[in-house]
Amino acid sequence: MRNVAILGATGSIGASALDVIARHPDRFRASVLAAHRKVDELVALCLRFKPDLAVIADAALETSLRDKLAAAGLATRAAAGARALNDAVSGELCDSVVAAIVGAAGLESTLAAARAGKRLLLANKESVVMAGPLLLDAVRAGGGELIPVDSEHNAIFQCLPGGRPILAQAGVRRILLTASGGPFRGRKRADLAAVTPDQACAHPKWSMGRKISVDSATLMNKGLEVIEAHWLFGAAPAQIEVVVHPQSLVHSLVEYADGSVLAQLGNPDMRTALAHAFAWPERIDAGVAPLDLVKSGALQFEAPDRDTFRCLDLAYRALTAGGTAPTVLNAANEVAVGAFLEGNLPFLAIAELIEATLDAISAEPVADVEHLVHVDLTARQTAQRKMRQGFC
Ligand code: NAD
Ligand code: MG
Repeated sequence: MRNVAILGATGSIGASALDVIARHPDRFRASVLAAHRKVDELVALCLRFKPDLAVIADAALETSLRDKLAAAGLATRAAAGARALNDAVSGELCDSVVAAIVGAAGLESTLAAARAGKRLLLANKESVVMAGPLLLDAVRAGGGELIPVDSEHNAIFQCLPGGRPILAQAGVRRILLTASGGPFRGRKRADLAAVTPDQACAHPKWSMGRKISVDSATLMNKGLEVIEAHWLFGAAPAQIEVVVHPQSLVHSLVEYADGSVLAQLGNPDMRTALAHAFAWPERIDAGVAPLDLVKSGALQFEAPDRDTFRCLDLAYRALTAGGTAPTVLNAANEVAVGAFLEGNLPFLAIAELIEATLDAISAEPVADVEHLVHVDLTARQTAQRKMRQGFC
């Protein structure tokens, strides 16, 4: 029996992970459930899954969580705050951790799980964008394993021999990272000036949280994934190519030196990647409908429109600059997307704000996590200031 901690249990990935766990009560148990602020949703999940521990990240809500767990007659213990989260993923209560907090807020718990040698099911791509080398070092030092859950990286992992993560050792020429193109595929800049958060979040193929949905609409999601692929698989930036594939059935491809191209296909449902990562190297049912290739029709592939969706090139720029630049990119993106979702920033200004923040802060070599946390904060403050000054 594997005991699983789910960080971000009330989110989209959290729900998919719990669905897979519920299908295999003989193999997996949700032993720790963690969320940000939604106490009632967390308690409802505790009623269903009976974990040992529930953690609410907002420390002000600890009493509320404890009282509601008790009122529900549950034996689940309550804890709160970032420290409790790190302790929970490091301790004896779990051997696998689903890192599904959104944004830089997931960095420290992801690192803590890696250091503690857990099986890390990594959905929180922002932590690898910010701290790729530190995270890989932590996985090595902890002696656990990192299985990517982001569907593209999970696909690449599946297309590499024996789950071997380093391309140089596997005769790989290139990684082809597929992108759906998001809800605005085919539109030009002039069409995007007045788009709303709800339009940006109406993803044609995937149902996801709002932040990653906006990232998909700007193509920053693919940019973050290029950086993620660079670190997870040791691929040089020039070895990673983005291909738009609107059907979202081919989740990514690996091209080998001999000309072979291996792909992983499946219906667009995150339970496939999660079930793969839970059971690896075995295979289990994910509850996902079989792929019907005849019904799904033609598969299209096209180049991304880099002029309209400028975030993709901004991510390559940060990756090439190296050091702390991806942390700045990520922080500015989180500020910009947050402002867009609140109706305070136009869609096209997301890329402009990120670019202005990257211009303002030069890349430095990464010293340690504290350094990254400091750079993250500085970049957020810079982006906020530029927004107040009406940078565009
Ligand atoms: P979501 O918004 O649906 O859920 C986010 C979860 O994180 C919630 O449970 C929330 O309570 C928790 N959270 C938010 N801020 C927190 C904080 N400060 N401290 C602790 N917990 C906090 O997001 P999602 O779509 O599930 O995405 C989660 C992560 O997985 C993101 O990094 C995203 O990029 C990645 N991802 C998601 C998908 C998908 O299909 N949804 C696919 C690939 C990767
Ligand atoms: Mg993805």
